[in-house]
Amino acid sequence: MRSAQALTLWQHEYRVCREDGSQRWLLGNAKPERGADGTVTWHGFVTDITERKQVESALVESEALFRLIFNHNLDAALLTRPGGDIVAANLEAQRMFGYGEEELRHMGRSGLVDTSDPRLPAALAHRAKEGWFRGELTMIARDGRRFPAELSSSVFRNRDGSEMTSLLIRDITEMKRLEQQLRIDATVFESQEGMLVTDAQGTILRVNKAFCAITGFSAEEVVGHTSHMLKSGRHDAAFYIDLWRKLKKHGYWEGEIWNRRKNNSIYPEWLTITAVKGPDGQVMNYVGTLTDITVRKQAEEEIKTLAFYDPLTQLPNRRLLLDRLRHATAASSRSSQSCALLFIDLDNFKTLNDTRGHDVGDLLLQQVAQRLSQCVREGDTVSRIGGDEFVVILEGLSPNPLDAASQAEQVGEEIRRELGRTYMLGGHSHHSSPSIGATLFSGHQYSSEELLKRGDLAMYEAKAAGRNTLRFFDPQMQAQVTERARLEAELRQGLREEQLLLHYQPQVDLLGRIVGVEALVRWQHPSRGLVYPGAFIGLAEETRLILELGDWVLETACRQLASWALQPSRQGLCIAVNVSAQQFHQRDFVQRVHGCLERTGADPRRLKLELTESLLVHDLQDVVHKMGQLQALGVRFSLDDFGTGYSSLAYLKQLPLDQLKIDQSFVRDVLVDSNAATLARTIVSLADSLELQVIAEGVETAEQRSFLERSGCRYFQGYYFSRPLPIAALEAWMGQAEP
Ligand code: C2E
Ligand code: MG
Ligand code: MG
Repeated sequence: MRSAQALTLWQHEYRVCREDGSQRWLLGNAKPERGADGTVTWHGFVTDITERKQVESALVESEALFRLIFNHNLDAALLTRPGGDIVAANLEAQRMFGYGEEELRHMGRSGLVDTSDPRLPAALAHRAKEGWFRGELTMIARDGRRFPAELSSSVFRNRDGSEMTSLLIRDITEMKRLEQQLRIDATVFESQEGMLVTDAQGTILRVNKAFCAITGFSAEEVVGHTSHMLKSGRHDAAFYIDLWRKLKKHGYWEGEIWNRRKNNSIYPEWLTITAVKGPDGQVMNYVGTLTDITVRKQAEEEIKTLAFYDPLTQLPNRRLLLDRLRHATAASSRSSQSCALLFIDLDNFKTLNDTRGHDVGDLLLQQVAQRLSQCVREGDTVSRIGGDEFVVILEGLSPNPLDAASQAEQVGEEIRRELGRTYMLGGHSHHSSPSIGATLFSGHQYSSEELLKRGDLAMYEAKAAGRNTLRFFDPQMQAQVTERARLEAELRQGLREEQLLLHYQPQVDLLGRIVGVEALVRWQHPSRGLVYPGAFIGLAEETRLILELGDWVLETACRQLASWALQPSRQGLCIAVNVSAQQFHQRDFVQRVHGCLERTGADPRRLKLELTESLLVHDLQDVVHKMGQLQALGVRFSLDDFGTGYSSLAYLKQLPLDQLKIDQSFVRDVLVDSNAATLARTIVSLADSLELQVIAEGVETAEQRSFLERSGCRYFQGYYFSRPLPIAALEAWMGQAEP
C-alpha cells in the first residue's frame, strides 16, 4: 500500500502452492502509475525463482556446515590474507593461543609464530615456491609460552580471485614429551647392565645390548622364547618355586643365580626381577636386570681358597678342617651316626726332604693328597694341616661304636695300602708309608681340638708300634679291631684251606617226614673249634669274602644234591641254601648258579634259595628279573626270616616266590606272646592268599608245632625235629626215620 501511495516499485518474493501440491518461489515486480483520473494502475511481471532459491539455500547450508567443521576442528585453523591478516580463527585457535577472535584479527598471524625459530625461513620459502608447507615450527601463545606445533598451510584463491592462506596448527607438546621420554628410556635400557623384559608368562619381549653381550644370544634368538632357555640346571626346582613365590608376593626378587650362555658355559649373575603391574594391579611384565658376577665370584673363590685351602695340595687347611669337624659333630648328634678322625703322618718324610730337596718332597705331598682323596667317599673330608700331616674325617659311620671302628679301620687300611704303593717323583721311584692314628666320635662329646689331639696321640702309638700301621686312640677299640683283623685273615686262610663245612637241618611235613634240609655253614677252626656263622658271616659280608664263601656253599650243596639223586630214597630231597644280598646282587649271579648246576649235575628243582627281605630293598626290578631267570631254570625261592623286615609287603606279588619262612623269633614266642601268635597266623593266611607254602623255623617244642599246625602251617624246621647235622649224622638220622 505504501508503494501505491508513494508510487514506488513493488518487489516481493513469495511462495505459492500449486494444485499438485508442489511449492514454487515467485518474484513479483510491479510499478504503480497514477492515471489522469488519479487512479493507480500496476504494471508488472512475475518470475519463477524456485531454482535460484534452492541454490541460495544450499549455499547457506554449506556455509553453516563449513563453519561448523572449521570451528570444531581439533586443530587450530586460521584463514589469512597475503599480508598475514587473520580473516578467521576457529575455537581451537583461540584456545590454543589464548586470544579472542577479534584480537587475533588485529594481531595477524606473525604474532603467533616464534620468528627466532631457525626453521621458519625455509618454511616460508617452501610455501612461497610450492604454495604449501607442512612441518614443525615453534609457536607463541598469549602468555608467552612457546610450544612445538605441527603446521600445515596452503595458499589458495578465493572466489573473487584474491589470495588466501589456510593454516592448520596442532600442539605437539605432549607427543614431544613422550618422544623424549622414550629416548631417555631407551638410553637407560641400553645401560651397562643386561636387561630383559618379559610378558606376564615369562616370554621374552625385549633385551638390551648388554644382555646380548653377557649371554652371547642375539635379540632375535631370545625374543619370543621363555627365560627357561637361560637356565643352567644348577638350581633345583625348589629354588625356582621359591623365586616365583617371592616375586609374586613382593613384586621383586634379587639374588645370585647361575645361568647358561649361548656357548653352554655356565656363569653366575646378580639378577633383579621387578614385576610391572597394570592399572588393574595385574602383572603385565617382568623386568630383569642382570650383571655378570663371574669375576667377583672368582675373586671370592680366590679369597676362600687362600683362607681355607692348602696352596700346595688344594686340600682344606687346618682352619677349614676345624669348621668341618664342627659340622660333623653337629650332624652326628642329630643322626646319632658315628664319625672317625684319621690322623696321618708320612713315615720318614724328613729324610726325603733332606736328601732330595723340598721340590721332590712337595711332589710326594701332592700325590699323597690325590691318593687320599680317592680313598674316601664324597662328603668325607681330607685335609692337610701342616708339613706331612693329613687329617681325614669319615662321616655317616654305624651308630654302633664297634662297627664304626671296623668301618674306620677298613678305610684306614685302604689308605695305608694306597699310600704304600710306589710313587714316581721326578723320574725316580720312591717308597713311603703312613702312620695312622684313629679316633671315633659322635655328637658334641669332644671339642675339635681334643679330637685332633687324640688322633695325634694315636698316630704316635702307630709310630711307636713300628710305623706303617694304624692305631686307635681307645685301647678297647684297638683290641676289637685287632681281633677282627685277625679273624679276617684267618677266614681268608680258612676258605683257602677248606676249613668250612656244611651242616644240614631237616625240614619236615605234618607227618614228620623229611622233605628237605637247610644247608648251614660252619667253620672248623684249627684252634677255636667249630665256629658258628653268627661269628663270621657279618665279617665275611664287610670284607666281601661272602662272595667266595657263598660260591663254596652253593657248590657243596649242589654236589650233595647230585649225590642224593643217585639214591632213590633221597632223590626227592631239597636243599635250601642261604644267599646273602651281596651275593645275589652280583651282576653275574644267575650265571654263577647256572654254572654250578651244570658242573655238579644237580637237579635245579631240588635247589631252593633262601633270600632275606633286606635283599629286596635295592633295585627290586633287578631282583625280579634275576629271580625270573633262575625260576626258568627250575630253581625255587624261600623268603627267610619273614616278618622281621621293614619293607612293605607290596613287593610280594611281584616276586616268583615258593615259600615264606616264619622267623624263629615269632615261633619262639607263639605260646607266650599273643602278638607273635597273631603274626604267625597272619603270615599263614597271607601266604594262602598268595598261594605260597609256609614253613616255620626254630620249632623247639611239640606245643609250638601243634599251635603252628592249628594256624595252618604245613612244614616245620627246628631242634624239636633235629639240630643241624653233619652229613653223616644226617644220613643216620634219615635212616632211623625210615621205616
Ligand atoms: P637262618 O638262615 O635263619 O638259619 C636258621 C638258624 O636257626 C640257624 O642258625 C639254625 O641253626 C638255627 N636254628 C634251627 N633250628 C633252631 C631252633 O629250633 N631253635 C633255635 N634257637 N635256633 C634254631 P645258624 O646255623 O647259626 O645260622 C645263623 C644264620 O647264619 C642263618 O640264619 C643264616 O642267616 C646265616 N647263614 C648260615 N649259613 C649260611 C650260608 O651258607 N650263607 C649265608 N649267606 N648265610 C648263612
Ligand atoms: Mg635260612
Ligand atoms: Mg631264618
